[in-house]
Amino acid sequence: MNTPADSLMIRGARVLTLDDDGREWPDADIVIEQGRIAAIGPGAAGAASSAAVRTIDARGQLAMPGLINAHFHSPGNLMKGCLPGYPLEVFMLHEVPPLAAGGDAARLAYVRTMVGALEMLRRGVTAVHDDAYHVPTATVDGIDAIMRAYEDAGIRATVAIDQPNVVEYEKYPFLADLLPAEERRAMDAAPRQSTAELLGLYDHLISRWHGAASGRLAAAVSCSAPQRVTDDYFAGLSTLSERHDLPFNVHILETRLQRVLGRQKYGKSLVHHVHDLGHLDERMMVIHAIWIDDDDIRLLADSGCTVAHNPVCNLRLGSGVMPWRALRDAGVPICLGTDEMNTDDAINPWFVGKTAAMLHTLASPDYATWPQPDEILWSMTRGGARALRREGTLGQLSPGAEADLILLDLDTVAFTPLNDLRRQLVHCEDGASVRTTIVAGRVVFDAGRITTVDEAALRAEMRDLMAGYQEQRAAAASAAARLEPYYREMVLRAASEDVGLRRSLC
Ligand SMILES: [Zn+2]
Repeated sequence: MNTPADSLMIRGARVLTLDDDGREWPDADIVIEQGRIAAIGPGAAGAASSAAVRTIDARGQLAMPGLINAHFHSPGNLMKGCLPGYPLEVFMLHEVPPLAAGGDAARLAYVRTMVGALEMLRRGVTAVHDDAYHVPTATVDGIDAIMRAYEDAGIRATVAIDQPNVVEYEKYPFLADLLPAEERRAMDAAPRQSTAELLGLYDHLISRWHGAASGRLAAAVSCSAPQRVTDDYFAGLSTLSERHDLPFNVHILETRLQRVLGRQKYGKSLVHHVHDLGHLDERMMVIHAIWIDDDDIRLLADSGCTVAHNPVCNLRLGSGVMPWRALRDAGVPICLGTDEMNTDDAINPWFVGKTAAMLHTLASPDYATWPQPDEILWSMTRGGARALRREGTLGQLSPGAEADLILLDLDTVAFTPLNDLRRQLVHCEDGASVRTTIVAGRVVFDAGRITTVDEAALRAEMRDLMAGYQEQRAAAASAAARLEPYYREMVLRAASEDVGLRRSLC
């Protein structure tokens, strides 16, 4: 099961290390042993003691750290192009149908996860942080299907169980009053898992999968969002995160409506609420953080947490613009994520990086505050490593680091002519130049071909499974259509409240 990593030599590449010293060489070698970088630099191959099993002639190619997709939900993988433009609250009626009767079978969950993993490997993502939700309830089979897919795909994956456990209408402002009694009763009756049951599933995830596949697979914890879980479950997750030093995923203030909810439900912002519960710490990855104020930014900075920025998702759902520069000025590290396939319709971290580089020009006329290519590249790699609690060993090319790297062909449209490598990586590259993806020293994508699984057979199986999946989607869409008028009313009502912040053009 745990394939030992081959030793591998990459010779003659242009190298962008993104290490602490920002080293870059026009012609250098990378020596990989036991899944890690043993030596790197000009002439490193000649000085290496062991004969490599395989040598890659990388002349004309760029070697750089593999990208880290810091925020992702694999269960949305089959929903590419499914949905029109919805705000988050309406979108979620389709994404995680609150009245769903049944979930995806284990084989579908495996294929679904695999399809996304292979798309990421093709685009040069070597590590993903998957906040995997389960509809309607989390199960050992569902968790194992996802983890097995990542194990077989060859990508590095850190996976959480993102499972809300409060009644649907309690997650929102106004909704309980807006819904007809029979819809409320149906929501009351929908299955919810107890704290003990969910923590039991975490015991399984951690004991079975944390550190599996020679450390390539790992567990994270997730509460989804503070308003979606009971306080005792939230506290249990925080304890788990601390005990095992696991990243803790929390979506906070993604939408304007959530700002209204915080005030209504807790009398304070959701950042303050999480802080006051004692859970805001350096293990936390705060996802979105759009509708935050200066006070929230101070709390986030003091906690040492990382913020996950998902600009394409934020635009797709009309959530607003995260205050990038204010967070950076306060010292908050930022990582980048695609979020899910139904809020991006692709898993393309290059597009995310470019969007992040451009979106924040809207925030200030002072162009000195706009994101710079070095910052974006840091967020695409090392920011994700920080959120995964793997600083120093992921997201950079340096001796001792995991050999997670990509080779990009420099004889492509993105780099022709080659004027400024870093700027062109952010503004020109779209993933099409990625020739080779290496995870833990193993070549998993090379010359247009995934090496770990039969990709064509997998895609064929996915197409076979789609009929049943689409039937399930249609049932969810019909329930969503019935509920949408109430959610629309809620969204518009929240939009009419003054929250003292402006994060969108309207
Ligand atoms: Zn998310």
